[in-house]
Amino acid sequence: MAQLLDGRALSCQLGPALRSRVAALHRPPGLAVIHLGDDPASAIYVNSKRKRAARLGFFQRSLTISADTTQADLLALVADLNGDDAIDGILIQLPLPAQIDATTVLDAIRPDKDVDGFHPRNVGLLSQGRPRFVACTARGCMALLAQSQVAVCGASAVVIGRSNIVGRPMAMLLEKANATVTLCHSRTRDLPDLVAQADIVVAAVGRPRFVQGSWLKQGAVVIDVGINRLEDGGLVGDVDFASALPRCAAITPVPGGVGPMTITMLMHNTVDSAERRQGRG
Ligand code: NAD
Repeated sequence: MAQLLDGRALSCQLGPALRSRVAALHRPPGLAVIHLGDDPASAIYVNSKRKRAARLGFFQRSLTISADTTQADLLALVADLNGDDAIDGILIQLPLPAQIDATTVLDAIRPDKDVDGFHPRNVGLLSQGRPRFVACTARGCMALLAQSQVAVCGASAVVIGRSNIVGRPMAMLLEKANATVTLCHSRTRDLPDLVAQADIVVAAVGRPRFVQGSWLKQGAVVIDVGINRLEDGGLVGDVDFASALPRCAAITPVPGGVGPMTITMLMHNTVDSAERRQGRG
């Protein structure tokens, strides 16, 4: 029977150590979450992040602003947060409305407050194998992998999806952990054949139940990053869980796998930042 890699349970398990780190700081970690507009899916993510930060005793600046906000106003807000000494981490909830150039705004966040790990400076450090802030979802996937019995060192890993948010940082982290990594995308030929070689499969595609159990090597470890809302309201991942379960050694459920770990790693990145800024990191 496959092991379920439970992100909620792991988040709870990591809680006490994180709380003690918060308690050891001179002042609470400060997190600013900027949310433009009223998209309900984004509002759910933002609320979960704010609630988790509140439970850990973080200082917060929660900025929900109009979807009509101009790029200049948003950049001014980022500049204000960059200069606010009580703020250790700045997060801008994506996606952003059409009038905003996401790259320009994300690049404006101070790299030492970039708790999402999207700034080119932090991506560059990760690509050189000396990570500072690592994108939260990829960091969460690595923590879940550590829970499985698979040895990442020397393993063959296939990452499906090459977004800057998930696929690329995930491929870099696996490579840093000495896996042999194949990064697949929408133009990849013979994807099932590549997946069939893999000891570790990470799916970050955004297509419901895309990866079939029949593609998997017996005993593979499967990390399903996808969150897809079906017409009937149900949530499914990018992996067909029912057909994958009998073939794999371990798999993340959706929901309850990668999702909770993304928020947990945002909290870790913010505490890492607070420690560094207080000379304790
Ligand atoms: P994205 O749209 O930015 O990237 C999707 C990637 O999939 C692209 O690189 C594309 O080349 C690849 N792709 C598309 N069709 C393909 C195909 N047929 N074969 C192979 N590759 C293909 O998406 P994203 O932001 O990386 O998110 C991916 C999924 O992960 C979504 O379901 C998203 O909701 C979910 N997500 C979950 C979390 C979490 O915390 N669990 C966080 C971020 C994203």
